[in-house]
Amino acid sequence: MAKYGDQNYGEANFIDHALIESVLEKTKDATDEVIDTIIEKAKLKRGLELEEIAVLLQAHSPSQLEKIYKIASDIKQSIYGNRVVLFAPLYVSNYCVNNCVYCGYKRENEFPRRKLNEAEIREEVRILERMGHKRLALEAGEDPVNCTIDYVIDTLRIIYDEATAKSNIRRVNVNIASTTVENYRKLKEAEIGTYILFQETYYKPTYLEMHPRSLKGNYEYHLTAFDRAMQAGVDDVGAGVLFGLSDYRFEVLALMLHNQHLEDNYGVGFHTISVPRIKKAEGMELNEFNHILDDETFKKIVAILRIAVPFTGIILSTRETKEIRDELIHHGVSQLSAGSCTGVGGYKESEEGPKEVAQFKVSDERSPVEVIKGLIEAGFIPSYCTSCYRMGRTGDRFMSLAKSGQIQHVCQPNALMTLKEYALDFGDEALNIQVDEFVDKEIKKISDVKTRETVVKGIQDLNDGVRDIFL
Ligand code: SAM
Repeated sequence: MAKYGDQNYGEANFIDHALIESVLEKTKDATDEVIDTIIEKAKLKRGLELEEIAVLLQAHSPSQLEKIYKIASDIKQSIYGNRVVLFAPLYVSNYCVNNCVYCGYKRENEFPRRKLNEAEIREEVRILERMGHKRLALEAGEDPVNCTIDYVIDTLRIIYDEATAKSNIRRVNVNIASTTVENYRKLKEAEIGTYILFQETYYKPTYLEMHPRSLKGNYEYHLTAFDRAMQAGVDDVGAGVLFGLSDYRFEVLALMLHNQHLEDNYGVGFHTISVPRIKKAEGMELNEFNHILDDETFKKIVAILRIAVPFTGIILSTRETKEIRDELIHHGVSQLSAGSCTGVGGYKESEEGPKEVAQFKVSDERSPVEVIKGLIEAGFIPSYCTSCYRMGRTGDRFMSLAKSGQIQHVCQPNALMTLKEYALDFGDEALNIQVDEFVDKEIKKISDVKTRETVVKGIQDLNDGVRDIFL
C-alpha cells in the first residue's frame, strides 16, 4: 500500500475539537432574544460567527425553527432567485483500496470490480448528453494502481471531447480521493470544474473508526486535501459531511472552521457544500450508525448552512426523496442531481435492464424531464448553466461577484437560456409549452432593461438554432 510519509499534510490543527465542544456547551440554552438578535444579523447576508451558528444549531422550539426557515428562504431567494442548477454523477471506477464502513464499494465487499474503458466512457457520456446534462460530477473509488490520476485525466479529456449532435458536457466536477499537489495541478490543467471531497466526518475518533486499515484512514491527509488543491491552483472546492456518522452540531461547526481556514489562507472558502445523508448500502445496515438524522433536523441543517455561508452553493443528491428535495430547495439548496445512477456503467445498464452494483441506494428516481417539470410547476428555474468556470469566474473572482450581487445579471439570463435550450433539444411538446410560458413570465420580472433585452435576444437566437449562449 502506498505511503504518504514524505508528503506535506499542511497544518491540520484547524478543526479544534475542544473549541467546538466548548462553543456547543456555552451556547446550548440560548434565549429567544439571543436567537432573534442572530436572525436580525443574518438578514445582512454576511454570514455568522461560530458561536452564533452554534446557537441556531441548538434551537429547538417550533417558533425558533420557523424563524430560521424563514430567514434561510429569504436569503436563498435574494441571492439565488428561483434558480436551481442541475447535474448528474458519472461513476467511472469502483476499484477501491479503502474499507469505509458505510460504503458499498468498500474493499471487503466482493463483487467484480471494473472501470470504464474509453468506448464505455463515451457511451455513458452520450446517454447523459441525450438526457440533456451539461454538468457532471465524476466519481471514482480510490485505487492508486487501477484508477491512477492519468486515468482520471484521460477520462476528463474524453468527456469534454464527446458530443452528440445536440449536446456536449461543459463542466466536469471531480470527486476523487485526497491526493498530492502535483496531481491537483494535473487536474487543474485538465480543466476540472469544482474539486469535490467530503470529509465524511470531522470528528477524528469516528473518522478513524469509519476508515479502518486504509489509505483514507489518515485523517490529517484527508483534511488537508483542499490546502493542496488550492496550492495547485484549484480554487473551486466543494466540501461535504456524510450526515449520520457523528453529531451533526459538531459537523456543521467543523465545516465552518474548515471554510474559515481556507478563507484565511487562500482568500476563498468552499464553492459548494454537499449534504449527503447516509443510505443503505451493500455490506452495512443503517441501524449500525448512531447519528441518523430525521427529516426535521436535516432541514434545520440546510437552513443554517444557508444562513451561515450565504454565497456557498448547497448540493442535494438523489439520495433524498422528491418530497425532501422539493422542500429543501426553498430553504437553501441551490444544486440538484437528476436522473442519477450510482454504479459504474449504470446509465447503459439502466437503459438495458438490471442495474450495476451501486455505491448506495438512491431515492429520487425521476428522469431529468420529470424533475424539470416539477421544478417549473413549483416556480423554480432549472438551470444547466456552466458559464462561471468557462468565463474564468472561479475562486475569489466568483465570490466577489456573488457578494456584490452583480452575479444576478448573468445567472438569471443564463438559467433562462439554458432552460430554453434544454426544452428545444430534449423536451416534449408539453414541456416546450410549459417552458415558453414560464420563460415569458420570468423575463417580465427582470427589472434591468439591458439584462431583459439580452435574454429576449438569446431566446430568439436559440429558436433560430444557435446553441450554447452564455454570459
Ligand atoms: N473515493 C472518493 C473519496 O474517497 O472521497 C470519492 C467518494 S464516493 C464516490 C462519494 C461519496 O459518497 C463519499 O464521499 C461518501 O460521502 C458518499 N457515500 C459513500 N457511502 C454512502 C452511503 N452508504 N450513503 C450515502 N452516501 C455515501
